[in-house]
Amino acid sequence: MTEFGLIDSIARMCETLPANGWEGIGDDCAVLPLGDEALVVSADMLAEGVHFLRHAAAAREIGRKSLAVNLSVVAAMGARPGATVLSLSLPQDAMDGWIEEFMAGYTELSAEHGVALVGGDTTASAAGITVNVTVFGRTPLANIKRRSAAVAGDIVAVAGRLGASGAGLRDILNGECDTPAAHAHMNPEAQIDEGIWLGGRAEVHAMMDVSDGVASDIRHIMERSGVGADIELEKVPADADLRTALCAGEDYKLLLTVAADGFAAVAAGFETRFGRPLYPIGSTTADAGVLRWLRDGRPTAEEFRGFVHY
Ligand code: ADP
Ligand code: MG
Repeated sequence: MTEFGLIDSIARMCETLPANGWEGIGDDCAVLPLGDEALVVSADMLAEGVHFLRHAAAAREIGRKSLAVNLSVVAAMGARPGATVLSLSLPQDAMDGWIEEFMAGYTELSAEHGVALVGGDTTASAAGITVNVTVFGRTPLANIKRRSAAVAGDIVAVAGRLGASGAGLRDILNGECDTPAAHAHMNPEAQIDEGIWLGGRAEVHAMMDVSDGVASDIRHIMERSGVGADIELEKVPADADLRTALCAGEDYKLLLTVAADGFAAVAAGFETRFGRPLYPIGSTTADAGVLRWLRDGRPTAEEFRGFVHY
């Protein structure tokens, strides 16, 4: 079974459970509307050997990264992260220096974004370090950006450049841990302020963060919104070869769709606010489920697939 097959079957098994007001599985965060506001919640796990190699990464960087990926999904809903709950499964040999350094990184980034740590769990581990972060955020309900809100004819955009993280992972696996790309892989710059800002723009329809690569993640917006997408390959802002930029993932940049007649205003506002462009890379179409890769406006036979666990 694939990762998404498993998540689908879990979702099916839970269908008969009460929702209790929550919007459940399938978006970056679960959402609980509370009057004019919404609470958003998500959990993300990092496992030694899967997400990081202990010899290749400083514990402090893993501390930052485990938080950054969680802040990223809250911002991808258009919400502001407020607090986290941190659960640690630690082998004996991680109990001294490693965890102290990890917490230094974790609290450092928490402070940078004004996020509290309000609980968690700590257990022994028979093999390897596992870190789970649960994050809570809030926003005016009207600002929530769901994967399901894209409309045919929207502009598809990314809020940052892609591929550095994938190139960095390749460097690390080649034993080169000191390259700029390796640094980018270990220190993803989640677009937290950008997500909160984009949440306030009504022209922005769907939004998510790119964890598995645009090639994989655009399909989540397509599926949940019932649209297709045309991606123009020459417009993808790539900091590596195109395949790495589209498929490797872990860049944690925001992927969004914007009403076509509102895109120019949003892009101009974004550039004024952040000093960086919003990159249009294509558009959504009425051909539900059909993803096309275009070069010079024509479909190519090239196929791009993002990262999938299992
Ligand atoms: P991401 O790539 O952003 O981490 P995932 O692909 O892990 O997102 O998850 C997709 C959706 O499935 C999310 O809404 C997530 O909350 C949900 N999900 C993932 N794993 C589980 C699980 N074991 N039980 C319930 N929901 C899950
Ligand atoms: Mg996940």
